Amino acid sequence: MTAVSAWGAVSADAPLAPLTIERRALGAKDVAIDIQFCGVCHSDLHYTRNEWKGTKYPAVPGHEIVGRVREVGAGVTKHKAGDLVGVGCLVDSCRTCEPCGEGEEQFCATQVQTYGGLEKQLGVPTSGGYSRAIVVDEHFVLRVPEKLDPAAAAPLLCAGITTYSPLRHWKVGPGQKVGVVGLGGLGHMGVKLAVAMGAHVVVFTTSPSKIEDAKKLGAQEVVVSTDRAQMKPHGASFHFILNTASAAHDLDLYMRLLRRNGTMCLVGAPEHPHTGPGAFMLLGGRRSLAGSPIGGIAETQEMLDFCAKHGVAPEIEMIPVAGINDAYARMLKNDVRYRFVIDMATLT
Ligand code: NAP
Ligand code: ZN
Ligand code: ZN
Repeated sequence: MTAVSAWGAVSADAPLAPLTIERRALGAKDVAIDIQFCGVCHSDLHYTRNEWKGTKYPAVPGHEIVGRVREVGAGVTKHKAGDLVGVGCLVDSCRTCEPCGEGEEQFCATQVQTYGGLEKQLGVPTSGGYSRAIVVDEHFVLRVPEKLDPAAAAPLLCAGITTYSPLRHWKVGPGQKVGVVGLGGLGHMGVKLAVAMGAHVVVFTTSPSKIEDAKKLGAQEVVVSTDRAQMKPHGASFHFILNTASAAHDLDLYMRLLRRNGTMCLVGAPEHPHTGPGAFMLLGGRRSLAGSPIGGIAETQEMLDFCAKHGVAPEIEMIPVAGINDAYARMLKNDVRYRFVIDMATLT
């Protein structure tokens, strides 16, 4: 075991502060990573504040990890010392169930999440990337293409894959009108990826100050969702809507914008339940409401390679680790432009 510096919360109402955590000794299939950057996901905030209930304290969040391999176990074949690598939301799964066999570890019933899971080797809760180092089984370590800026690559490990996976699953592409609800960390990646896939993208935001940004990110149209007059002309016109909002709202506001056979996929995971949809909203137009969690390891690698190939990268605001509590406060004011990334060199 190795003691590692980290930042985390000791209770739901405590600010994040320095902590020391233990990382397991390197096993034969393990990769030891020196963490350089960690993105700040709204899930980190939901988790540390116990908004989803069941948080285990001390809670060290962070699942958008990029760093360099320090050392590998004797049986590791995928990575070597010095490689630029990433770790996302998963650090283990059973590897034998049907979803694991199909490369969809995000649906494995015994998956181990990067934080808040159970570290099997030590029998303690897993700790995430707001820390200097991590030890992870090689299967769950991604290759980060050297073409990508390492700091900007970090948010791809959650925000990137969580938006890429449903866009691929629902076969978003040219000739389709696609909506993205909420322009934060996930939303801005949803826009960039859907544009790169060739769709006509419309952003729905509650923040009029983000209109120009949304256009710069590639959206063809921007709608302020609190303005009924702007919403109305889009009725029954969308093939697909990706809803990334972090707070509960009336889903029918967007369901009525789906055309026949259209689908709205929720990726946002608010503390409180949404309202809607009414039955008639679904059966008129044979509309679907769906959800999607992160993505599997193979698809995460595909997404990283897609981003390198198409020049897609998150817009980031770098912060020192001591700035994390201010970053959370801004996140709650919808003032993320468009992903905070912690420079781990500031954690001494
Ligand atoms: P974020 O950067 O804070 O962005 C969330 C955005 O949601 C805000 O910027 C805001 O955009 C919009 N929003 C907030 N309140 C709203 C409301 N009442 N109505 C409509 N829109 C609202 O958060 P994030 O990191 O992108 O995460 C978004 C959500 O996805 C969180 O709940 C997070 O836990 C969840 N998540 C899920 C998965 C998964 O596997 N499915 C993975 C990662 C994150 P505007 O200012 O544009 O309105
Ligand atoms: Zn996340
Ligand atoms: Zn499994």
